[in-house]
Order: sequence, then C-alpha cells, then structure tokens
Amino acid sequence: MLNNRNRFYYLLKPFIPRWLQILIRRRLAQIKRAKYKDCWPIDKNSCKPPVGWTGWPDKKRFALVLTHDVETENGHDKCKALMKLEKNLGFKSSFNFVPTDYKVSPELRLTLTSNGFEVGVHGLTHDGSLYKSREIFLQQARQINQYLKEWKSVGFRSPSMYHNLDWLHDLNIEYDASTFDTDPFEPQPDGMSTIFPFWIKGDSPSGGYVELPYTLSQDFTALIIFKDKGLKIWKEKLEWIAQNGGIALLNVHPDYINFGDARQSLDEYPVSYYIDFLNYIKKQYKNQYWHVLPREIASFWRDKWSSTDGKMVNSSKI
Ligand SMILES: [Zn+2]
Repeated sequence: MLNNRNRFYYLLKPFIPRWLQILIRRRLAQIKRAKYKDCWPIDKNSCKPPVGWTGWPDKKRFALVLTHDVETENGHDKCKALMKLEKNLGFKSSFNFVPTDYKVSPELRLTLTSNGFEVGVHGLTHDGSLYKSREIFLQQARQINQYLKEWKSVGFRSPSMYHNLDWLHDLNIEYDASTFDTDPFEPQPDGMSTIFPFWIKGDSPSGGYVELPYTLSQDFTALIIFKDKGLKIWKEKLEWIAQNGGIALLNVHPDYINFGDARQSLDEYPVSYYIDFLNYIKKQYKNQYWHVLPREIASFWRDKWSSTDGKMVNSSKI
C-alpha cells in the first residue's frame, strides 16, 4: 500500500508545488514512523560491538564524526560559512561534493583542507543512476576515481544513500559512508544494524575498505519533515550511542541550512538548530568523545583490523 502510494507520488511529483510535496512527504513519513517505532531512530539490535573490540583511543566513550553532503550549487556556496561555524566551536568535518552537477571550486577545496577539514566525493551526478547496471557503475567509477585522485580524497558517499558494497571495491577509497544503522525513510532502506564501522574485505590491492554507517538521523528527516525543533531525535539517539560506545555519525546538508541572510525556504531550517546541537554535544559530553574526520576513523579502523590479525569481526555484518 505504502509502496503504491510512493510510486504514485513520485510520478506526480514534478506537477506538485513544493509546499504540497513536503506536506505529503510529512504525512507518509508519519505513517512510516509509527510502523517502524521499534527500530527507528534506535534499533536496539545494533549496539553489539565487534568481537575483539577494545574501545576508542584515550578511553573515550564514543566517536563523533561530522559529515556534509553538498547537493547543489546553493549548498556549495554555503560551505565556507558552515566550516567557519564549526571551526569556531572547535569541530571539524568532511564535505562531500558531486563533481559533475555543479562547479566545485578548487579554492573552496583548498580552504577546507588547509583548515583541517576533509573533502570527499558524493557520486558523479545526483540523478540516481550509479547502480542502475554494472556497466553504468563501472563507467561512473572510472570518473569517480579520477576525482578522488584529483581531490586527494579517500572517502565516498553515494547519492541518496543507494549502496552495493560489493561493487564499491572498484573505487579507490579507504572508506565508504553510504549506509546507516537504521533509516526506514531512505529509498533503499536496508539498515546495517550496527553503530560501529565495519571492514569490507575485497580483492583490490588495498584489501578492502572501511564502511562508516551514519547513526544520527539525516537533518532533512529530523528537522524539516518531523520539525524537531527541540532536537529530541538527535539528542536521544546520541545518548544511546554514548551509552553503547558506538560512533555518532551525522550528515548535515549545507543546502538545507538557512544562515539568516535570505528568506528561509521550505527546504531549510535555521542555522541555530545546528549550532545548538554542537553546543549541546560540547557541554553534555565534555571530554567523553573522540572527535575525528571520517578518514581518520577509517585509518584507525583499518589499523585495528590488521593489528588484530583480522580477528576483530563485526558479528552483525561479516
Ligand atoms: Zn546527496
């Protein structure tokens, strides 16, 4: 029933005004939320650490990783403001760009990396074509690898979180971040059921890559669809992740942030929401989290994997 409804909606979408699209998505999401209330935002089956796990560096309770997918030119133009905001609050993050949908400024990439931030690749184009066939994937992978090399990036995230973890071995990456522990609101909604990274073994020269599932709800779902002004969805999940010692991985889109310099659109939320959340993390969990870039956590996980002679296993995944 819900699938038919969704199909119908996507067929008519180009003819529906934006306010009505959001209203419809909100209604469908409420139905889904009730249906999946036992496994979203918290899937209790996802807290088991990998076998052989000895904890995060410096005995920190949990790991904190901030990421951004930049969907459009509009988002691209807000990246510097977002970087400054995070830097001033003592945070760092990665920015994933779509190389052929808009012009990715080399100057912006340099500003980000020289300030201690990371740049990753968010597909080749955001049109949902990447996994349509193996041939299409391989064609796009060749170009994605060129961008990875040119940008000196080691991380990838698929547009719309589509994923085929076997195929990703064809990318020259150290990590992928296209999956999640639980998120029934995604078009490919199969969660990985873990709040820990995991190793994807392959035949590539690197031997595989690290998978980093996001574990905090996407900003669009929490703040625009569910209008969670009190940040309850993020805060409650973060506490659960802290209690279980996993990775708190957040994906915030600059496209959806309103910095107060223009009228707020239906697809935006005020920047104060994100500032409030960062300040909350700092205050509530002072000295309790290991805050690193995705490439740093991937490197840590890979070393851990090899230092335990491959014995550290995510029981839920491998
Ligand atoms: Zn995206």
